[in-house]
Amino acid sequence: MDEGSRSEFDLIGRFFADLGAPRADVLLGVGDDCALLEVPACLSLAVSIDTLVAGIHFFHGCDAEALGHKSLAVGLSDLAAMGAAPAWATLALTLPERDDDWLAAFARGFGDLARTYGVRLVGGDTTRGPLSVTVQVHGLVRSGAAVQRDGARPGDLVWVSGTLGDAGLALRLIREGGPVDPALRARLERPDPRVALGSALRGIATAMIDLSDGLAGDLGHILAASGVGAEIDLTALPLSPAVVSRIASEGDWSLPLSSGDDYELCFCAPPEHAALIASMAAGLGCALSAVGCISAEPGLILTGPDGAPTSLSSAGYDHFSNNA
Ligand code: ADP
Ligand code: MG
Repeated sequence: MDEGSRSEFDLIGRFFADLGAPRADVLLGVGDDCALLEVPACLSLAVSIDTLVAGIHFFHGCDAEALGHKSLAVGLSDLAAMGAAPAWATLALTLPERDDDWLAAFARGFGDLARTYGVRLVGGDTTRGPLSVTVQVHGLVRSGAAVQRDGARPGDLVWVSGTLGDAGLALRLIREGGPVDPALRARLERPDPRVALGSALRGIATAMIDLSDGLAGDLGHILAASGVGAEIDLTALPLSPAVVSRIASEGDWSLPLSSGDDYELCFCAPPEHAALIASMAAGLGCALSAVGCISAEPGLILTGPDGAPTSLSSAGYDHFSNNA
């Protein structure tokens, strides 16, 4: 073993060998060639992977603890959007250099969120290079019970959790170099995945997605997968006062419709479930708002405050679109 690999194993042992919640279904965790995980026969494994790259998804020099939190939160948000219960994660970390203070803070942010949701870190990979973080999450859901994107039906109401556009506003304010309210900044840097809500909606929601790229684009994925359209009432969108005043000053709805990183859930459900869904909000600690309804006619119609249809000039962020 050379000096480099010795310090690599020392790094893994110090920061990543014992992270997250202990779980009886982890037969073998960090340290061997593979982790061994037990999946009960009646459950399906839900798997999702996301990469965060320095300079693209987060600022160079950003807070390491927040980055550890967010790199896991985005995956847990995907599990929430399927109605799956989080179980395990793996972490591929590419670092320009070893910095133990940075690693301790990163591991704290990752580990705290992992424990909150009962997730165990069971393996990963550690390499040297430009800073990037890839997290794969694994969740469990009763076979056949996961909520997919393709089940929306005409007449369903469209719902969103929380408030929309806060993370996008925080990002704009940071880029503008102005002061950013800490609570608003937290919406960008420390998103809280809607895990309990996602699970509670199994058997109620006909289709669901998490909002990572903005309501217009992400709801568009549900519409395309389900072969339906939707009408959204802009005046029904749940907005924080800060986003309301930005929309008023700019006359532009792109913050709630096409800015990313909200990590709220958007879901569809038949209108007869409306009272039940509304009553769930208090127990879950997040607002649930009906913002429109599914139509048979394909396409997304946005109705503005004057009741007239509005068009959306900028769609959600797409890494490979010509104008990204
Ligand atoms: P291999 O060469 O067999 O792929 P590695 O040397 O990459 O093994 O990793 C050794 C062990 O440490 C493996 O169990 C791997 O899953 C784990 N590991 C490596 N990097 C990380 C990390 N960043 N977080 C968690 N576990 C890790
Ligand atoms: Mg490896």
